[in-house]
Parts: sequence; C-alpha cells; structure tokens
Amino acid sequence: MQFIDTHTHIYGEEFSEDRSAVIRRAIDAGAVSLLLPNVDEASIEPMLSLCRKFSDLCHPMMGLQPEELPADPAPLLQKMYDLLEANLSAPVTSECDVRFVAIGEVGIDLYWDASRRDEQIEVFRQEVEWAVKFQLPLVIHCRAAHRDLCDVLKPYADSLAGGIFHCFGGTEQEARELLEFPGFYLGIGGIVTFKKSTLPQVLSSAVPLSRILLETDAPYLTPVPYRGKRNEPAYIPYIINKLAEVYATTPAEVAHLTTINACRLFRIRQVP
Ligand SMILES: [Zn+2]
Repeated sequence: MQFIDTHTHIYGEEFSEDRSAVIRRAIDAGAVSLLLPNVDEASIEPMLSLCRKFSDLCHPMMGLQPEELPADPAPLLQKMYDLLEANLSAPVTSECDVRFVAIGEVGIDLYWDASRRDEQIEVFRQEVEWAVKFQLPLVIHCRAAHRDLCDVLKPYADSLAGGIFHCFGGTEQEARELLEFPGFYLGIGGIVTFKKSTLPQVLSSAVPLSRILLETDAPYLTPVPYRGKRNEPAYIPYIINKLAEVYATTPAEVAHLTTINACRLFRIRQVP
C-alpha cells in the first residue's frame, strides 16, 4: 500500500530527537511523498533543509499560517514572495532540486482570536494571488471562518490551480459549498477516527473519495489508537482503514484513489 501525507510538520522540534526514525517508519508504512506546509519565518529553514536531505520524499510549501501573523506582516510576506519567485524561476539543475509545491499553509483562523480578522483576510487574499500567479495549489487552514473564506476565494475560483481545505471538520452543507471550488479537495486526518466525530457521516453523505486527500498534521491530531500522543506520517494507515469503513471499500482502494488525487493536484510524481 502506498500513500501520500499531504500535510505534515515533521521538520518541527517535536521530532528533533528521532526525525530519521520517523521518516524510516513513514517509508516502511508506505509513504511515497510527504508534503511540508510552512508556518512562520522560523519554520522556513528547518523545512527546506529537511527537503534538501530527503529530496525525493519531502516537498515544501510556502505561506504564512494565519495564527502566526506578525505585528507587521509586510516584510515577512515580501520575503516569502521573493523566495517563491526565485525558487520557481530558477532552472532545474539537478534531480534533487527542492521546489515549492504549494502555497501553504494559509487562511483565516478566528477560533481563539478574531481581533485581527480584517488583517488575516487581507494577508490571505494576497497569498491567494500568489497561488494564481504561480499556478500552485493552495493549502488552506480555516477555523471559525467558513463564510469569510468562501468570500475571499470566490472571485479567484476559476483562476486557481486547485487546493486543499486542510483539516476539514465542517457540516455537510459546508462540505458541499467547498467542493464547488474546482480542483479543491478536503484534507482528512486523525479526527475522522475520533469516537464522537461527525465527519464519517458528513463524508459518506456529501463527499466522494475522488475529492479527499490524506494528511496527518503531525505532530497534532493523532488518530486512534494513538490519540493524545505525538502524530507522525506512519499513522496514515489508521486514517485509511477508517475511511475504508466509511466508504464501504478496501484500504487499498482508499490509498490508491487518494494517491491519484494528490499526484494530480501537486504534480510531484507520476499518477499511479
Ligand atoms: Zn498544519
């Protein structure tokens, strides 16, 4: 069984003691690609250096996570834009060149703090424009801001190269609305295995497997039976098994279809 973890923060310090072992376990479990979303300024270098070290497995994204908005975001946004432009316009010189594969993770998060809503929206809009300009998928983090998110995205819907609504946990109605965006997928992770999760019901009634991608969001949101512990890409099969149950199919079929979805969206490897 092969799979792609489309959202993992294994460059973080939570993995500094055993990062190589975590990667080894991911490969042994079936991981063929690990996609690394950026978070803030401090995460850029650790993320890129991991991608250089494991260049056929790990691929970086670039963007500012909405909860990490600096007091003045303009200089950091400029730095991120410059990195993207330099990276994407440079000629490919070797097979182990590191390329940004998405704009992420970006979005709006009003769950704990809505005081900078307008700024979050403005920064997100700017990053959506990067995604249009560079024709890269968008990896979107959204909490307690469904309406704002749709309002910002709508004018760009037909010019974007698709994307992911990462860590989707909304209602059936919200799922249907998000899937109206062409080329967009719902990122499904450990939450679907939680006992009280309403996600299985929402997925089986409103979301076809052709619109789902797998993700851990490691080190967070660890699936059952490891819930509460540190998450890692090797736990993706627990999510696959749960989805097989939800869609009344086999784990192999879930792994196969979601891998096809990820290959199409990120263009990182041959569609199997
Ligand atoms: Zn994340």
